[in-house]
Order: sequence, then structure tokens, then C-alpha cells
Amino acid sequence: MLRATNIDSLSRGTFDVLVLGAGINGAVAAAALAAKGAKVALIDRGDFAGFTSQESSNLAWGGIKYMESFEFPLVRKLCKSRNLLLRSYPSSVQEIRFYTAHERGFRHGLFKLFLGTWLYWIIGSFFTKIPRLLSRRVMAREEPIINLDGCDGGFEYSDAYLVDNDARFVWGFVRAALDHGARAANYVESLGARREGDAWLTRARDVVTGRELAIRSRVLVNACGPFVDAHNALTGQRTSHRHIFSKGIHLIVERLTPSRRVLTFFADDGRLFFVIPMGSRTCIGTTDTRVESPHAAVTPEDRRFVLSNINKRLNLPRPLTEADVIAERCGVRPLAVADGGGGEDWLQLSRKHAIEVDRAEAHVSIFGGKLTDCINVGEEICAAVEELGVALPRPAQRWYGEPAEEVRHEFFQTARRLDLDALTPPRAAEKLSARLWRRYGAEARELLEEIRRDPRMAEAPIEGAEDVRCEIAHAARREMVVKLEDFLRRRTKISLLLRAGELASSPGLREACRILFGDDADRRLSEYFQEQHGARERAEAEAPPAAQPVG
Ligand SMILES: Cc1cc2nc3c(=O)[nH]c(=O)nc-3n(C[C@H](O)[C@H](O)[C@H](O)COP(=O)(O)OP(=O)(O)OC[C@H]3O[C@@H](n4cnc5c(N)ncnc54)[C@H](O)[C@@H]3O)c2cc1C
Repeated sequence: MLRATNIDSLSRGTFDVLVLGAGINGAVAAAALAAKGAKVALIDRGDFAGFTSQESSNLAWGGIKYMESFEFPLVRKLCKSRNLLLRSYPSSVQEIRFYTAHERGFRHGLFKLFLGTWLYWIIGSFFTKIPRLLSRRVMAREEPIINLDGCDGGFEYSDAYLVDNDARFVWGFVRAALDHGARAANYVESLGARREGDAWLTRARDVVTGRELAIRSRVLVNACGPFVDAHNALTGQRTSHRHIFSKGIHLIVERLTPSRRVLTFFADDGRLFFVIPMGSRTCIGTTDTRVESPHAAVTPEDRRFVLSNINKRLNLPRPLTEADVIAERCGVRPLAVADGGGGEDWLQLSRKHAIEVDRAEAHVSIFGGKLTDCINVGEEICAAVEELGVALPRPAQRWYGEPAEEVRHEFFQTARRLDLDALTPPRAAEKLSARLWRRYGAEARELLEEIRRDPRMAEAPIEGAEDVRCEIAHAARREMVVKLEDFLRRRTKISLLLRAGELASSPGLREACRILFGDDADRRLSEYFQEQHGARERAEAEAPPAAQPVG
């Protein structure tokens, strides 16, 4: 309903700004502009955060690895962005310790790297806990899962992580944009745009119905992530930056260690890789491989690389094999390179974003970026759009962050009065009040009211998942769920925590589908499994089958 209403209004009147692409860059651009008073439209040809922004490592980090290439100004900027996220999102972006094992003979000595973590801590304004040097004895006691053969010790420092996941974090900005009057719709593709008088006329297509529409806007913001260059080719935009792509994969397995730390290792090829806590699961990755196409899939070689590295570095009761992989993530980082760039050692390429403004045509392109740096991107897009002549009537309006302390206080007080936490589903990793507040902010009050009226609303119908009934009903009403995958993969992370087979046989999933889609539930359910099957077949066809389990 919400989506249909928004699509109808897209072809009415002239927007100040049309944002193309609703990954993190497009979502923050729309949220910031709408909050500051611009008339904004936001479209994505897939689901919100359905491309790169659902494949990250879920970390908000100051970029410690860029210290190796002496990019201290970038590290300072990213540390400040990380600190701002930590301050602004105390329940959804939290500090986490990175616990790093150091192998003898590595290209940098242990003490040098430890000093590096101190410098990182100083550059980060001492905002996090102090780094620690770790002896082998301490590591063996604190993280017995780490295989210390060949290690001369380690160190521990802090960065931050997204407690839910990246796609949910992006959805928060889309929600904020909607709350400030933006018209946003998923599954609406831009087919190209041209100048008509002093405005842009974008030809778009509702991917669900096939209906075409025209959207008028004074300014066009291209936030198509890995497809920025392709869209600029459609509009004839010439830019001094372009994208090159780095592929990264993560494998999700059963929880490997009870500690809530990121375990950090240097892989056989010297690159950093992580063992990241993910609720009842562990996420292992990432790789960093240059690829030519934005469409990438996990190959058997990728799996073997990650599994063999992890098996070497952890003391596991038995080596992990492909059969232990519950779910996989794979994405390409769009890296901005300036004219003539990209030939240098590409791993050393800067991960800075670049915003290019075409004044004559009132067009903005966003290259590169990180989830960590999203607040800066939002602010910079507002400045660029103002420069193009769009007045922002509420320039100082705050457009990010969790609701004010009074709202939080009132929510937790009501939750206590209702004894909400006593209804927390068994096996849940956290109290229901904490979960609802983090995921819904001020809207959590409505969910409380539903639970007050009917305590069954606090039950989690999908076996093995923590999402309770009123959350599913809320997603159906307020979160523009078009396909079942939008719900299972992005509004929640259920499909990352449960195997496809478990989902297929889950009676709870059928109930969830009825809540989400009513009479259309059966069709959406079979569409989901068909699409998943099709995606697996395509990935397998592109790569030869895996050889043997890795040891
Ligand atoms: C493996 C990996 C790990 C990462 N880890 C981290 C991390 O831990 N921390 C961090 O800060 N960053 C991380 N990043 C980087 C970060 O995820 C990306 O920089 C960011 O998500 C890119 O966002 P985006 O909005 O530019 O692109 P996207 O998320 O790809 O969004 C672009 C959107 O444009 C849409 N689109 C394209 N063409 C059209 C069209 N014609 N019409 C309408 N819509 C269109 C697409 O459907 C897509 O949804 C990681 C990236 C990868 C790949």
C-alpha cells in the first residue's frame, strides 16, 4: 500500500531531488535532504540495500589497515565518523574488541603493530578502550580457540560493529527519509534520464508491474553504487572518477566462540581477515579480489581460501568444511579512482569516496564510500544540492541518530510496567525490550501497545529466529516488503542464520508469510524458494564444482 501510494506520487509534480539507488549512499542522501526540507524522491531497481550494502562486514571502523599506506588523514576522518556513529546510535552501533594473533616472520613485527594500534587509538581521539599487548599465555587463556603455533603473541584494540546488520541500518535511513516526507519506492528502475527545460526527466519502470513512469526533478543524484558509471553513460554524464571493483565474501557458520570479539588474522597472502560474531552464528571473511563485473558470486576457490585459512588458525574439534556453511555473502566494493588511476597496486588504492557535481546539468554522482562514512556523505550531498540552487529550509535539522533520551526513557518505563522482558522468547540472545528499541526506535511504542493487547504478539513464530509476531506485522505495514527475501535477508537476517532447508520446512515461516502477504502467501513462498534455487544454480554454473573439504 505504502509503496503503491509512493509510486503514484512519483510522477506528480517536480521533486527538488531524485536520488537513484537506495544503498547506504542513496539512503543517507535522501534522509539528509528530506529532513532539511527538500522535496525528495528515492528509487531503487531492487530492494532497499539489496546490492552492495547487504554484503559488508557489518563493521564501522576507522580504517586501521590504511595506516600501512600512511593515509593518516583518511584514518582520522573515518575514526571521527566511527565515533559519531557510536555516539549517535548507542544501541545499534557498538564498540567491539578486535583480537589479533601475530605470526612470527610477518612483514611487520608484533611490537611495531602494537604501537600502530596505539597511534590508531590516539588518532581516534581515545574514544574507545585502550589497546592491549597480549602474551601467548594470556591469549591461550582468553581465546583458547586460537591456534598459537607459530605466533609470538598478539594485540587487542577497538572498533565498532552494526549489532543488527548493514541492510537494516540502511533501512533506518530510508524510514527516516519517509518520515520527513520523501517518496521512496523499491523495485523501481531508472531506465535513463534527460534534461527537459531546467529539470531532469527520468524514465522509470516499476519492476513488479512493468508500468513505466516519468519522474521530474530539479537535481539528479546518481547513487547507483557499482552501477554509477553505467547510469552516467545513460545520461551522457562525463566524470573525472570511475569505479573499479573489489570482491569480498563472507561465510556464515555455527558460533565458533562464545566471546563477543572479532578475531583478526593475517591470511596466507598477508591480508587481514576476520571471525565476526553474528548472534548465534559466526561470520568469517572477507576476501579482497579485483573483479571486472559488479555481479559476483562465491566460487569454490573463495570458499577453500576462507576455510583453509580459518582451519589453520583455529583449534577446532574438526576442520570446517563446506557442509558447515549455513549461508554466504558476496559483494563488490565500488572503489573510486580518478582519471588515469587504477593501474597502481590496487590493494593500496584509497577507499575514499568522491562526490562529483555537474553544475551546468544539476547532476551529482557519488563514487565509493563506506557504511562508516555515511553521515559525511549525507552532509556533503546536502551541500552539493544547495550549491545547485535548491534551498534547504531547515539546514540545521538533525537527520540521523536514535531518538532523544526522553523517548527512550518513556519506552523502557512502559516496557517495565508491562513486564515485557518476561515475554522474551526462549533461546533469544537479548531481552525483548532491548531488541524492540534498537530495531524500531520511537515506533517501538506501537509494538508495545500491540503486545499489551495480545501477548501472543511477543512470540517468535519462525523456529530458530528471534523475530516476534508484532515485528512481522509491523514489517507488513511499514517496511515495504515486496518479496519474501526483503524480509528474510534485509529487514531481518533470518536467511543468514537458518539454512534454506530449515526455512523450507518451517511452519512458522508459512505463518509469517500469511502475515506479510495475506492471500498471496503461498505464491510468495514458492517464488522465494524458486529464486534461491535459481541463484544457486547460476552461481554453480559460473564456477567448477569444489574439490575436497579443506583441512
Ligand atoms: C565484502 C565487503 C565488505 C565491506 N565491509 C564494510 C564494512 O565493514 N564497513 C564499511 O563501512 N563498509 C564496508 N564495505 C563497503 C560498503 O559496503 C560499500 O561501500 C557500500 O555498501 C556501497 O553503498 P552504495 O550505496 O554506494 O552501493 P549499493 O549498496 O550497491 O547501492 C546502489 C544501489 O543502486 C541501485 N541501482 C543500480 N542501478 C540502478 C538503476 N538504474 N535504477 C535504480 N536503482 C539502481 C542498486 O540496485 C543498488 O541497490 C564493504 C563492502 C564489501 C563488498
